Amino acid sequence: MAVNIEAYNKILTELNSKATLVAVSKTKPVTDLQEFYDSGQRDFGENYVQELVDKELLLPKAIRWHFIGHLQSNKVKYIAPFVYLIHGVDSFNLLKEINKEAAKNNRVIDCLLQVHIAKEETKFGLDATELSEVMKESATLKNVHIAGLMGMASFSDDRTLVRKEFTELRSLYNQYSGFSILSMGMSGDYTIAMEEGSNMIRIGSLLFGERLYPAK
Ligand SMILES: *Cc1c(COP(=O)(O)O)cnc(C)c1O
Repeated sequence: MAVNIEAYNKILTELNSKATLVAVSKTKPVTDLQEFYDSGQRDFGENYVQELVDKELLLPKAIRWHFIGHLQSNKVKYIAPFVYLIHGVDSFNLLKEINKEAAKNNRVIDCLLQVHIAKEETKFGLDATELSEVMKESATLKNVHIAGLMGMASFSDDRTLVRKEFTELRSLYNQYSGFSILSMGMSGDYTIAMEEGSNMIRIGSLLFGERLYPAK
């Protein structure tokens, strides 16, 4: 399936430089990523460590790679040399591991803490209390920088609910000084997310078409 450059340009116009667009390319071939790269896109998001490592080898070094999936501690080492931003950090243990691998690479890795905002039980993420605990504990870690928060709203047609969840995340985000990235909004809900103050959206299917095999 061809990539949708028209949708890409439309989204960029809508964002009007108020938010960074992360092109979510999981399961898609490198030729598709290259097409967006040639159109000027530099931020790409991937969910699987092996896939990210493979693509990083094949594509231009100027790409900023975002890891947006659920990261297992034992795999941090594979992406630590080059990853630009890790979106889904949901435990202090994972943060400690990222810190350790970042130190080995002489880097400070930017991370976002994932907050559980959806009503669905299955989503990963911290609640407000856990967030506050991780923020306190992380003060000792020198090789990670917590740049902000990330969240996923419920997969629901109820726009009022989705908006409420984004508002909740925005209000948590505002409680911490020093945050600069609020990553919220996907293909189905990015307009609401923008209205609620997102400054980083993660768009997959609108740009690359539907994914042929399930991927979270
Ligand atoms: C897959 C994925 C996206 C993109 O989803 P689309 O609905 O295809 O835009 C965004 N964020 C995360 C965390 C994802 O896993």
